[in-house]
Amino acid sequence: MENEEIFDVIIAGGGLVGLSLALALESGGLTVAVVDRLAPSQMLEPAYDGRSCAIAYSAMRMLDVLGVKSQIQELGEIKEILVVDGRVGDGAKKGGAIGLSLHFDDAEITETDEPLGYMVENRHTRLALDKAADTRPNITRITPDSVVGFTDLGAQIEVKLQSGKSMKARLLVGADGRGSFIRREAGIKTHKFGYNQTGIVTTVSLEKPHNDVAYEYFLPAGPFAILPLPDNRASIVWSEQPSRAAAIVELPQAEIEAELQKRFGDILGKVTICAPIFAYPLTLELAADWYLPRVALAGDAAHGIHPVAGQGFNLGLKDVAALAEILVESHNLGLDIGDANVLERYAAWRRTDTLMVALSCDAFVRLFSNDIAPLRFIRNIGLGMVDKIGPLRRFFARNAGGVIGELPKLLQGQAL
Ligand SMILES: Cc1cc2nc3c(=O)[nH]c(=O)nc-3n(C[C@H](O)[C@H](O)[C@H](O)COP(=O)(O)OP(=O)(O)OC[C@H]3O[C@@H](n4cnc5c(N)ncnc54)[C@H](O)[C@@H]3O)c2cc1C
Repeated sequence: MENEEIFDVIIAGGGLVGLSLALALESGGLTVAVVDRLAPSQMLEPAYDGRSCAIAYSAMRMLDVLGVKSQIQELGEIKEILVVDGRVGDGAKKGGAIGLSLHFDDAEITETDEPLGYMVENRHTRLALDKAADTRPNITRITPDSVVGFTDLGAQIEVKLQSGKSMKARLLVGADGRGSFIRREAGIKTHKFGYNQTGIVTTVSLEKPHNDVAYEYFLPAGPFAILPLPDNRASIVWSEQPSRAAAIVELPQAEIEAELQKRFGDILGKVTICAPIFAYPLTLELAADWYLPRVALAGDAAHGIHPVAGQGFNLGLKDVAALAEILVESHNLGLDIGDANVLERYAAWRRTDTLMVALSCDAFVRLFSNDIAPLRFIRNIGLGMVDKIGPLRRFFARNAGGVIGELPKLLQGQAL
């Protein structure tokens, strides 16, 4: 067809990672098309997601550079993190069951005045990304529509949509989430492990001030996180065995609140559920490869991890920063951005960090999700030791802030 537009990049999936990538690429001068099977209005409905994400301060620097941070309507801060090992009924308090706990505060990051992290409801992040993307002339949004196939034409890739349209680009990025169609269609294998846990997610309002403290409370059934949101609310990620989780979400609200109250103890006063309740199966899913010629993966399409340390979206934002930097640099040098040599640089940058984060979260969940007395003793000593050793504690705090390893420009707060 004459005058057919050939995009630099087509992104399948305009979720949190896909839209962030579109903004990053456009900021470096590339033309981008983003296809999502849902219209933006559907993704903004409270009944769509229900999750909130802890966003590391380095990732928030990038969202700031891309003009997203200023659009976020309700931005919470995490000033302290308390990691406690306990049993239902102990309450999420410093010291936990046997008086040992791990504690970070924002003074651990001495060179900046940023908080340890930010807390944002996913619907607010989506809304902010949506507003920012709508102002960029070089981002074309195609919704609601789905990518249903693609063909490598040599110098370009042709992408087929459910609506019957087809489009061409130099590169297709699969940012289409855990069940990634792009990953499957490209024949990229996935290593998948279950945790026999479901994450019950909701938002609660609290009687006493949370003072911007995030609690990671390890219970025998799995981690229980209380994450501070604006207006003295908190996002809850409550892991339970799947059959028990299925029974819990069917209980009347007052009974769920009573269960929550047992886990909170009295530290934050009365707990009241103020949002719908969601259940997410918790698994570890790692793609065996990050790319093929003309196709790359980013975000949950490349790696879905346990939410224990709130790192899933943060890993996705690190993919965005690294991929955008490499593609913009290669484009400016006149290189083919769909070429395997270019994409290998992206994979090499992201492979080790992703594996380290995924496996540390995995080890944490496996070590803590039980009530075996000797293990409980060892892990409590471990938490207490890390807490007492300043440099080790600072290392963990900087890791949570996403500033370990070679940082792409966007994560340092620099434009491309
Ligand atoms: C309980 C829980 C709590 C979490 N808490 C945190 C946290 O505190 N901090 C953190 O960093 N991370 C957290 N995460 C992880 C985080 O939510 C995910 O990593 C993040 O949402 C992944 O974003 P994504 O854009 O890669 O995928 P998704 O959000 O799944 O987006 C994929 C998009 O692709 C679209 N799509 C799918 N298929 C197609 C197709 N064929 N064509 C077109 N479009 C398509 C979908 O409509 C969707 O919009 C948590 C996860 C869970 C389960």
